[in-house]
Amino acid sequence: MTILVYLESYDGELTGHAKEEVGMANEIATHTSQGIVGIAIDSNTSSLAQQAGSVGITELKLATIDSYNPRAYAKTIENIYQDGDILIFPTSTWGHEIAAYLAMDLEAAPITDIVEVRGDNKYIRSTNSNGVLVTVEPEGPKILSCRQGVFSIPEEQDSTANVTEIAAGEGHKNFRVKQVEPLQMTRVPLSDADIIVTAGRGVGSADKIPVVEELVDILDAALGATRAIVDDGWVDPDLQIGQTGKTVSPRLYIACGVSGAIQHITGMKTSDVIVAINTDEEAPIFDIADYGLVADLHEVIPEMVKQLKAMKQ
Ligand SMILES: Cc1cc2nc3c(=O)[nH]c(=O)nc-3n(C[C@H](O)[C@H](O)[C@H](O)COP(=O)(O)OP(=O)(O)OC[C@H]3O[C@@H](n4cnc5c(N)ncnc54)[C@H](O)[C@@H]3O)c2cc1C
Repeated sequence: MTILVYLESYDGELTGHAKEEVGMANEIATHTSQGIVGIAIDSNTSSLAQQAGSVGITELKLATIDSYNPRAYAKTIENIYQDGDILIFPTSTWGHEIAAYLAMDLEAAPITDIVEVRGDNKYIRSTNSNGVLVTVEPEGPKILSCRQGVFSIPEEQDSTANVTEIAAGEGHKNFRVKQVEPLQMTRVPLSDADIIVTAGRGVGSADKIPVVEELVDILDAALGATRAIVDDGWVDPDLQIGQTGKTVSPRLYIACGVSGAIQHITGMKTSDVIVAINTDEEAPIFDIADYGLVADLHEVIPEMVKQLKAMKQ
């Protein structure tokens, strides 16, 4: 009986979320004493053993599949699954698709959005925009998904996992992925960011977003957004943080012109350090901020960028 961790990757790179999955597996292992085995499926597998080893995976099952196909990925995993294994997926679009196919085949109920491991078969999952925590003690096959930004990434190690090549599973005859088109990302994705700088409606208009982006770039941060500016079409919906967007937990979160509506806070309140810049001293974001600046972001941010540039020189 093993803890099988599907290590999410794209084009040969493990995602930050995959590393958190290993963190969750480690926590489960402290309760069950089961060994941990990674599973990676990708078209480019050349450095996955090294990447898996660097987060403490010693044994890696590796399959090569030309392009993402949830049916084929699920079959690949099902072929090595044995009764009593625990399966871990990321709480991500791919993770949930693959988990759903597997759950159908194994006649299991996937348990999604796990935020805490409480025992050898007791998990806490978060629902209703983090408003309700549910304790689950599953019977039968355990297919679990790990909520992003909750479990710690294991310390980096200088080691490489031992690889066993496994056969790729069959896709479905009625299901073929014709094209996978990655978004052109020039910055760190939200999921991998240590620092997030979020723009809210207080920025003023779409053409003023570059003011915030200057701070993003000088800090090597990711750009986040409130739903207000996503709905107004100022930025890509993929950047939205909150109840109907992403949940993040960076080391530093800088909210610029963000009021701090509950639906936004729900997605970022576990950030280590929260800084808020807002002209309204009554704005609710200040209730959760560690540092607050009651100021116009158009005055403060250019000054911050100037000082940071000077520090970097
Ligand atoms: C079902 C549902 C789901 C939702 N999901 C989400 C979600 O996932 N994520 C999300 O973010 N929202 C979500 N919302 C929307 C949410 O309720 C708020 O409307 C939204 O977060 C507000 O965005 P904002 O803070 O950018 O804008 P506003 O609330 O308009 O706040 C703008 C802030 O900028 C300040 N400001 C103005 N000018 C300046 C300046 N020059 N310098 C500094 N500060 C300035 C103002 O004082 C104000 O506090 C959801 C709502 C619903 C009903």
